[in-house]
Amino acid sequence: MTAPWPRRPRLVAGNWKMNKTAAEGAALARELAGLTGGGAAAPGCGIAVCPPFTALESVGAALRGSAIHLGAQDLHPEPGGAFTGGIAGSMLAALGCRFVIVGHSERRHGMGEDDATVARKLRAALRDGLTPIVCVGETLAEREAGRTAEVVVRQTHAAYDGLEASPALATVIAYEPVWAIGTGRVATPEQAREAHRIVRATLDRVVGAGAGARLAVLYGGSVTPAGAPALFAEAEVDGALVGGASLEAASFWRIAAAAAGA
Ligand code: PEP
Repeated sequence: MTAPWPRRPRLVAGNWKMNKTAAEGAALARELAGLTGGGAAAPGCGIAVCPPFTALESVGAALRGSAIHLGAQDLHPEPGGAFTGGIAGSMLAALGCRFVIVGHSERRHGMGEDDATVARKLRAALRDGLTPIVCVGETLAEREAGRTAEVVVRQTHAAYDGLEASPALATVIAYEPVWAIGTGRVATPEQAREAHRIVRATLDRVVGAGAGARLAVLYGGSVTPAGAPALFAEAEVDGALVGGASLEAASFWRIAAAAAGA
């Protein structure tokens, strides 16, 4: 099992979604690795990229020797067996993955992934020595109906309920309002602050007093180099999960640099 992610680090993770072939991903990874100066020096915050499964091996090879971590976008909750198309956490770990995204809204809302499945995937990731990046967030309709807190509490509670403090603290949460993902509409720092506080208060209740303050809570949703500094100036925001802007080395790097400097 890998060492738990240190408490409350800064982290910027790129979610490449269904973009980049193995060769294209390796080229982007080489560019990013080049920006680290070719060595192990990251700019004061953890950096991870989460390519599609098919590019994990080539991207992992391109990142070798750099400080950039490898992550995956999903995993199957079971450790192995007759699950056609499934990818087990142990397979990701064997490819050098440190992180895995769990419960992304594109899977919750586009592929019918429910809270119980997200909870199983979180545990599967921990079982296989991966750090899950657990996504929670409300839809536009839920926000407009004044249900943001209810949804964020429900999703966070369902994911962490019954988990011991030690494994729970070896995870990262990403607050990703669904209305902000891929839309160009970013949450304000105040909206992010409010939601992150709800996440932390829920963790205090479910995992144990003080847990919320120890977990890194990232913001995700249309983060760009221009918008990142204002978000990272908010003390509740410990970094970002970045989609579109992570597909280009310079923009992703500028976001990571903003997180490091905040
Ligand atoms: C995401 O996919 O997690 C995401 C935040 O995407 P984007 O940055 O493109 O909104």
